[in-house]
Amino acid sequence: MINITRVDIGQREKDLVNQVLESGQLAQGKMVSEFESQFAKVSGAPYNSALSSGTTALVLALRALGIGPGDEVITSPFTFIATINAILETGATARLVDIEPDTFLMDATLLENAVNHRTKVIIPVHLFGQPCDMATTTAVAQAHGLRIVEDAAQAHGATFADQKVGSFDIAAFSFYATKNMTTGEGGAVTTTDVNVDETVRVLRNQGMKGRYEYVAQGFNYRMTDLQAAIGIGQLERLEATTANRATNANYLTSLLKNFPELITPVVREDRTHVWHQYTVRLSSDTGVTRDELIEKLRRRGVGSMAYYPYSVTEYPYYAARDDVVCDDDSVSRSCAASVLSLPIHAGLTKDDLDHIASACGSALAEKTE
Ligand SMILES: *Cc1c(COP(=O)(O)O)cnc(C)c1O
Repeated sequence: MINITRVDIGQREKDLVNQVLESGQLAQGKMVSEFESQFAKVSGAPYNSALSSGTTALVLALRALGIGPGDEVITSPFTFIATINAILETGATARLVDIEPDTFLMDATLLENAVNHRTKVIIPVHLFGQPCDMATTTAVAQAHGLRIVEDAAQAHGATFADQKVGSFDIAAFSFYATKNMTTGEGGAVTTTDVNVDETVRVLRNQGMKGRYEYVAQGFNYRMTDLQAAIGIGQLERLEATTANRATNANYLTSLLKNFPELITPVVREDRTHVWHQYTVRLSSDTGVTRDELIEKLRRRGVGSMAYYPYSVTEYPYYAARDDVVCDDDSVSRSCAASVLSLPIHAGLTKDDLDHIASACGSALAEKTE
């Protein structure tokens, strides 16, 4: 079976974790600081704080800006639910703006119309590893005095117009086990704003500025030195694994061009994609549903997944909430019904990719048999 993800832990991570175990300092300490200083190379931002997850990174980014009840935060309805949950956790309202059908990214040309007097933040989600249109997003934010919190959970090292994701204003990264780099669970807030960084550091540690000097209602959002040790090893290989993913993605696209039923990924010219997921769309007139195709591929030894099977507004729980608002997510809904992610992780061989493509071909052909 060719799985959609593979967790890749090298000897370097094992050595560093052992070093932490032997040091007796397991919680946030020197390794976390070292990880933070090294992660700056990925984000291109001068400040960053390591945290317990990507979700807590989103929550603290918003809380550092003072976001709460009465405020609105704009984001995409086609995302992992953590983006929405982080907004709701602060008490703010999530306003969902529809996506582009070819990139699956929030359509920045719709932002202007979604802004109202309550809007405080835009969260562009760099879905699957491709950055959103940060030029238009930044222009709208500046015109209305809004802040930007990039959801960069899937986009470590990606760039828009040669600028790194994570360096536009504030950003949240995730190091969950299946992301492009991992600490098991973990996250970071990166920022160009020293005040935001200072507030995040206080909030992650019980609201303490100095020892037992409480200045805010904080919580425990800390990363451990054990997690940071894994992260340092992962960081050393990130560029290589990302290059590998890109090579695999491009090769798979060249093979899938033979099957007009599959719409291969579109990468905009002004950005670099880091291929967290390789996501195709099934065209509507193929005679096979997306879920049937997943099953047919599974029988051929290929693990594929629907990321994401529904637009956020299609979940009854979120549809019933009046703090999740959306005028129109028809593009998001139609993408959710037709997307399929295929394996392109760095552990795959050329033979694996050939097999994935031929499995797609035979699965699609099977409908007429
Ligand atoms: C993974 C992910 C998150 C949440 O990160 P965790 O580390 O799992 O909490 C947020 N947004 C997106 C788009 C993600 O893919």
